[in-house]
Amino acid sequence: MKRNTRLLHSAFDGDAQVTGATLTPIYQTSAFGHSTAEELEAIFHHKEAGYSYTRIGNPTVASFEKRITALEGGVGTVAFASGMAAISSLCLAVLSAGDEIVASSGVFGGTIGLFDDLKQFGIVTHYVPDCEPETLQQVISPKTRMVFAEIIGNPKLDVLDIPKIRAYLKEKDNILFVVDGTLATPILAQSLQLGADVVVHSSSKYINGSSNAISGTVTDSGSFRWNPEAFPAMKDWKKFGPYALVSKLRQKILMDVGACLSPMNAFLNSIGLETLGLRMERQCSNALALAQALEQMDGVEAVNYPGLVSSPWHETAQHVLDHGYGAILTLRLGTRERAFSFINRLRYAVNVTNVGDVRTLVVHPRSTIYAHTEPEACAHAGVTEDLVRVSVGIEDIEDIIKDFEQALLHSDSI
Ligand SMILES: *Cc1c(COP(=O)(O)O)cnc(C)c1O
Repeated sequence: MKRNTRLLHSAFDGDAQVTGATLTPIYQTSAFGHSTAEELEAIFHHKEAGYSYTRIGNPTVASFEKRITALEGGVGTVAFASGMAAISSLCLAVLSAGDEIVASSGVFGGTIGLFDDLKQFGIVTHYVPDCEPETLQQVISPKTRMVFAEIIGNPKLDVLDIPKIRAYLKEKDNILFVVDGTLATPILAQSLQLGADVVVHSSSKYINGSSNAISGTVTDSGSFRWNPEAFPAMKDWKKFGPYALVSKLRQKILMDVGACLSPMNAFLNSIGLETLGLRMERQCSNALALAQALEQMDGVEAVNYPGLVSSPWHETAQHVLDHGYGAILTLRLGTRERAFSFINRLRYAVNVTNVGDVRTLVVHPRSTIYAHTEPEACAHAGVTEDLVRVSVGIEDIEDIIKDFEQALLHSDSI
């Protein structure tokens, strides 16, 4: 099956066996009753498959999880209430006091905030300005347990060379290689096949597509070997073999932390997922057209998009990404004032701190997402005073290009 067919048919039969419903219904229930005490006991001891309480599992959520697993080619997926809940739960499942994380300095602000929270539990993060083996080499220590990076960083729009990092880490059983695939989506990059051990998504973004529900996922390749000395937190779970991580995330972390995805939001995500391929095709081609048009427009100092030959990450993007270069681009307009004036004059693009919507979105990162970030960290993340970030939607791109042209023309006259 190719990707668009897989989106609809892989690991999915709606409710065909029971009612013929073409979609998995919303099982809006907290608990699941069973006819005998023995039956419920068996479920609690994981001897029988079944549902007991929605914090740990729910058929609507399970259907969404299975579809993500099929897309990513992993052994299993656990869905969470948000992308941040997914990343937090993953850290809580595998790390212990004394461990170190190595992360790309351009990772999502919420992730940096979380890694900062982990300090009080004795887990320290070292940031690298780029994810090249030579740079990683300088900060990786015997205590490093996780390398964390995004496939497409934002707003720097650097592209992670997953196979190169895999080759550098080799088959280490003491460093887990985690990739945040949010901006690439499973359509543009098959992270696990490329060499990541675990892939996380904020499915609030492209997977959902219409910005109507917050959610996150963790998908495991099942190939990490969980050296028990390096990962004492995973020792008891090794007996589950390739299912060690998904078992612990579901049976322990979801149970204890409770950041579960609601059935309604799982349903909305499953609907979104069905059109992910079509939307990405359109959004990526729109983004490329807009980036190329902006390069020719007066008053634009620089355009950054991995699909442009001028991007330092174009070559990496060509061998890591398939079917497009993502749908985020940035432009520099010289000054903060011109950036503000430009944003204020756009007719269609919504001024919002979000990405991955079907609508085109813009934001001035320095005064919003990076408002409380130190100048040095902003420099590492590629955030300048004149930078505008665009998340390109599915509109007819001629309309968006025209709108950007008029906004540029008028922001010149201030
Ligand atoms: C939005 C985002 C997150 C956090 O996800 P939420 O669903 O908002 O909690 C994590 N990583 C990346 C790359 C994101 O864009």
